[in-house]
Amino acid sequence: MTARYCSLAPRTAPAYAPGLAAERLSALVGAERMWVNNTVLHYCFLDGGGEEQHDVVRACFRQWQELGIGLVFTEVGDRSEAELRIGFRSGDGSWSAVGRDALRVGLRERTMNFGWDLTAPGERGTALHQIGHALGMLHEHQSPFAGLHWDDEAVYAELAGPPNHWGRERTYDNVLRKLGPDEANGSVWDPLSVMGYPFPPGLILEPEQHRGGLYPPGSLSSADKEFALRWYPPARVARPPALVPFRSVPLGLGPGEQADFTVEPSQTREYTVGTFGDGDAVVVVFEERDGEPRYLAGHDDGGTPHNARIGARLVRGRRYFVRVRLYSAWGSGETAVMCW
Ligand SMILES: [Zn+2]
Repeated sequence: MTARYCSLAPRTAPAYAPGLAAERLSALVGAERMWVNNTVLHYCFLDGGGEEQHDVVRACFRQWQELGIGLVFTEVGDRSEAELRIGFRSGDGSWSAVGRDALRVGLRERTMNFGWDLTAPGERGTALHQIGHALGMLHEHQSPFAGLHWDDEAVYAELAGPPNHWGRERTYDNVLRKLGPDEANGSVWDPLSVMGYPFPPGLILEPEQHRGGLYPPGSLSSADKEFALRWYPPARVARPPALVPFRSVPLGLGPGEQADFTVEPSQTREYTVGTFGDGDAVVVVFEERDGEPRYLAGHDDGGTPHNARIGARLVRGRRYFVRVRLYSAWGSGETAVMCW
């Protein structure tokens, strides 16, 4: 019997500038959907679902959180404050926006949906899986490193039947299509990942040991945990170093790495935060409110010939955080950040 499967909507890939160097492109594809680390992600529940369903989702957020990752999940009641808006519309399947793609979803729309009962046995894995997407993870059974050879027509036929009732396109997008090597969650296939689906016998031709089916346990595997901690390492310092206006700070970052700074403005005025050098980066300014960093402004210059530049009104007496995550650098390899 086939399980009910998560179905991601096809993504409109960003239009990259033509002629980007392969290394630059690969760093972008691999990192552009990841959140800036030390972001507080606010989630809220929409469209009913009921307390029991909510509790399953809350417990799963906690489980990811308790790995010690640098992201923080906080439930809020107001959808306008929530980056992650979770619906429980049955008949719409289970799915989620992947990582920062959630920011491109209109405030009235869901970024995640659960289309069936999460309190049923074994369904906790569904919630862990969707939160994995929200962290930026894709489907493990689509890893190009899995070496899975499908009986394509058997897969189409199986998924066209109950309980999924998928058309060929949806099946292709969510099962048969191989991810690019830069999109995959890791450089080796992890058959135990919570990001993989279970498959009944007769769908996988190779490797031979999976002809009888593939049954990931629906819990976080060690590679899942490694992935989350690699992209979202625990915050090392409570208070990052100061970014003093008009003093540029060399970043010295490798691809995927992040630098964090504190800004305590001496005046209330419009400030600019910008990066320098040959690099692709995402820069986000947070304002501390009630002890919590709230997103204020951000700029992603990935794949463009420009540097990131943010204008924001900073208020004297308040505290701000500037976080820079580098995708890639070239030329001298040197990049810097300044606030002025
Ligand atoms: Zn999925």
